[in-house]
Amino acid sequence: MLAQTLTVTNLGRALLRPTKMNSLLTMSSSVHTQLVPVNREHYGGKSLTRDAVDQVDPEAYAIMTQERARQKRGLELIASENFTSQAVQQAVGSAMCNKYSEGYPGARYYGGNEYIDQMELLCQKRALQVFGLSDELWGVNVQSLSGAPANFAVYAAIVEPNGRIMGLDLPDGGHLSHGFFTPTKKVSCTSLFFQSMPYKVDPKSGLIDYDTLEQNAMLFRPKVIVAGVSCYARHLDYARFRKIADKCGAYLMADMAHISGLVAAGVIPSPFEFADIVTTTTHKSLRGPRGALIFFRKGVRSQGAKGPVHYDLAEKINSTIFPGLQGGPHNHTISGIAVALKQCLTSEFVEYSKQILKNAKALADRLTQLGYSLATGGTDNHLLLVDLRPKGVEGAKAEHALDLAHIACNKNTCPGDVSALRPGGIRLGAPALTSRGFKEADFVKVGDFIDEGIKIVLKHQDRAGKTIKDFKAFTETDDAFKKDIKALGEKVTDFSCKFEIPGGDF
Ligand SMILES: *Cc1c(COP(=O)(O)O)cnc(C)c1O
Repeated sequence: MLAQTLTVTNLGRALLRPTKMNSLLTMSSSVHTQLVPVNREHYGGKSLTRDAVDQVDPEAYAIMTQERARQKRGLELIASENFTSQAVQQAVGSAMCNKYSEGYPGARYYGGNEYIDQMELLCQKRALQVFGLSDELWGVNVQSLSGAPANFAVYAAIVEPNGRIMGLDLPDGGHLSHGFFTPTKKVSCTSLFFQSMPYKVDPKSGLIDYDTLEQNAMLFRPKVIVAGVSCYARHLDYARFRKIADKCGAYLMADMAHISGLVAAGVIPSPFEFADIVTTTTHKSLRGPRGALIFFRKGVRSQGAKGPVHYDLAEKINSTIFPGLQGGPHNHTISGIAVALKQCLTSEFVEYSKQILKNAKALADRLTQLGYSLATGGTDNHLLLVDLRPKGVEGAKAEHALDLAHIACNKNTCPGDVSALRPGGIRLGAPALTSRGFKEADFVKVGDFIDEGIKIVLKHQDRAGKTIKDFKAFTETDDAFKKDIKALGEKVTDFSCKFEIPGGDF
């Protein structure tokens, strides 16, 4: 009644007045705050719903163009990032974002889903095709919103509450969503709602310690073993993982988020030969929109005494995604994934993926020549982990200084690091710059720029205080440092601006 007699704009003001209703509320409830009055303006342009974003919202548009300029001028070496294509950007910005379609193709809660169904089926079909899977033995869910929620959905589907999971420890190159916790905090909800036990890399070789994993798996008896990495430069031994999973009675889940583009192109070993379940993000080496895929086996799981035992993963995983955890699927993202998968089926994408491997190798070789040590001694995939401990430079300081010179990478723990809070190295990845057309010689140049950046840190860090906070303050105030890093930044920008960038204008 009250609201009906007021216009929207003076409703706010009316609520601020101490009416009888408001004071009653204040007395009966312990929490009550008055709202801030909302200022509204007349848009005044041609059409709020048809004008372009630069017209409707210059402020947001300016941020987007600045981010685009940042992407162009810098050297993007964050191993999980990529530049998606114009075609994928168009799909994600399409009218497919308007539709509610809770459910699955052929079984939706709302009408009008004939094209939405077509798109989801197309995306599923291509996902199986790209990874060489027959639809008799494998199914795929394309609705999960991103990598970490996809992993959580799998655990929720097949592990009972408080059930057991083993994944590679985060400081050893695993992912948060594989169950990370510290002595004082269950950081990932995977460790809160399930019991997680990490396996580790050998601190000397940097390689996964499969023997200890096997011993611990036989004691811990996990329901799921996760074979997946965010910072590991070598191939995983999926056959070994399979043996361990069989021995302790676990499902083998491969999380190929970082490497799925390379798997799609067939240039590195595929987890599908051995895993029961495979999850992946779609926005890393796969070069699609931000999203995820969950693949699961169908058909016969094992031969029991009373006959074949069948997988029931399809029903469990699909019903956990919807209605278990999510509502309406993001159909624009599913469209973008379909378009990205179409691209994965081209010979150009295979060439791109081969080039990623060559570029990562070229960068690894150059840095080794320049005297840097790499965890595991090199790389077989798209990334490398530079161990800066022998140089006496902290990962966080290197990351910060390189960022000031427009070189984007991230600090990362190295095998044997005592504190996860003071990582000893930086992680470098090739997918994004390879999408900009960088070849081996360009990556040699990138290695030289990184070396120059580290040398600038070494030259000045004695004067910069001990903590990363001190160091950051120093980089903002010390003129000698600022001069050196600016000179490097200008060289970096001149170099990177020569390369094209995938995608649209902003
Ligand atoms: C990136 C990544 C994820 C998480 O993906 P988000 O989309 O960021 O949630 C999960 N697992 C691995 C191995 C990853 O590298």
